[in-house]
Amino acid sequence: MREGASAFSSDLRIAEIARVAEKGARGGRFWQPVGIRLRRDGTRKDNTRRHLVPSLGVNDMAIDLGTANTLVYVGGRGIVVSEPSVIASDVETGEVHAVGADAELMIGRTPASISAVRPLRHGVIADFEVTEAMLRHFIRKVLDRRMAHPRLIVCAPSGVTEVERRAVEEASLAAGARRVHLIEEPIAAAIGAGLPIEEPVGRMVVDVGGGTSEMAVISLGGIVVSRSVRVGGYEMDEAIAHYLRTTHQLAVGSRTAERIKIEIGSAVALHPEETVEVRGRHLLSGLPTAILLSSGEIRDAIAGPMREVLQAIRDTLEDTPPELAGDIARDGILLAGGGTLVRGFSQLVAAETGMPVSSAESPLTCVAVGSGQALDHFDQLSIARRSRRPAYAADWRGA
Ligand code: ADP
Ligand code: MG
Repeated sequence: MREGASAFSSDLRIAEIARVAEKGARGGRFWQPVGIRLRRDGTRKDNTRRHLVPSLGVNDMAIDLGTANTLVYVGGRGIVVSEPSVIASDVETGEVHAVGADAELMIGRTPASISAVRPLRHGVIADFEVTEAMLRHFIRKVLDRRMAHPRLIVCAPSGVTEVERRAVEEASLAAGARRVHLIEEPIAAAIGAGLPIEEPVGRMVVDVGGGTSEMAVISLGGIVVSRSVRVGGYEMDEAIAHYLRTTHQLAVGSRTAERIKIEIGSAVALHPEETVEVRGRHLLSGLPTAILLSSGEIRDAIAGPMREVLQAIRDTLEDTPPELAGDIARDGILLAGGGTLVRGFSQLVAAETGMPVSSAESPLTCVAVGSGQALDHFDQLSIARRSRRPAYAADWRGA
């Protein structure tokens, strides 16, 4: 899949997406400059010109607001922040104590007056105020005087409602952005992985994050079929902790469970199987205890969440119009997101679907990179959005 993509220069590709987006937005008329609006003093408005010559996106920002990790991409610089989506604040006053990696260290270790939470846990914004505080922290962290009011692209989980969408927009504006545009995660992942998504060819993206997994079939720059399930890496961690509690009477925290998953977790049999030593509190004696765990045990422990993700992939394929399904059978499925790093995941998907499967070069960053590349075409994306008409070929739905 990646070989096919390499024939396209990324700028050309995005210009093409923007063109398709604009075409959709304007009811089929192709790539025309918008009417040039003048200020009262007769000079051109700056942003009008940007429709004709896309700005380089320098000083603008893209944020991948993930359930597990938030990444900030600055135009012209690349990814400048990559931190866990965690915020620690005072329960009573709401005062923010720490954000990101510092706050993550506090999970499970805070006194009663402080709570360290992942506000996006299941892909939706459960606690708006906390999300806003987190977003503001990350934006302020990279703001400098040159980009006092950046334009911002936020990639949010596709499960967000219109209300939450507006909430993210407002939080971004309140945090200092001049303009903000939201893009769909699978589109950003596909752009970041270098797929030529603007072609009338079906491309399938599977993004397994911390709290959600998203599958989408993309054609002509837009989503044709998609599915979002609230199962991801965290559910695997929970399944591991549950297994340890019930089978070994061992209590472990979520970070230990995650470490076990990353070290010996697998979706298919390993040759040879591996082991890891795990420390926790024995539920019966109440004392700290260490045990040796095997990769086979962990594979069984995470089988439940794995099955749910695979079922969602199969369901998405079933809903895919036949022509596009044919394209996917030829070009394969692209995997993105940290959850797909579990060893053997791509082999399992290939075995279960019969499709070729490939992983994005950098599964943890491709959404942020794709959102960042879309910065170059901010204005076209905004036009497409404002029209309220999907910026993709709706005619393909159910074709
Ligand atoms: P989100 O987009 O929701 O923020 P990410 O794409 O950043 O999520 O992925 C985070 C998830 O990926 C976490 O559940 C984490 O445990 C998992 N993860 C990260 N690296 C690995 C790895 N090497 N093996 C297995 N899982 C991993
Ligand atoms: Mg993500």
